[in-house]
Amino acid sequence: MAFGTPSRWPGKCDWNYTTFLNIVFFAIAGGLVALTVRRGARDPVCGMTVDRHKTAFTSKYAGRTVYFCSAGCKQSFDEAPARYIDLTGREAAALEHAGEPER
Ligand SMILES: [Zn+2]
Repeated sequence: MAFGTPSRWPGKCDWNYTTFLNIVFFAIAGGLVALTVRRGARDPVCGMTVDRHKTAFTSKYAGRTVYFCSAGCKQSFDEAPARYIDLTGREAAALEHAGEPER
């Protein structure tokens, strides 16, 4: 054979197409997660992921923008923001991570 067994791999049986597919799968999954984190914001009322560039329903709370899927969710949030976002809790951390930088 022209190519032989690649010497930099432990053995050709350790590097088959299943391994390759696994790597492709993780790359795609990682890419999707990155896209979701970059583009999506979580609606704290219903838990849906909202595209922050498309939704018209936003509120300012504690210096950050919160995104909603519908007017109903925004209204529920505006009535009692603290019910949906605990500033010391996990939800706040998640929003901070996904939120837009302050301008
Ligand atoms: Zn919603």
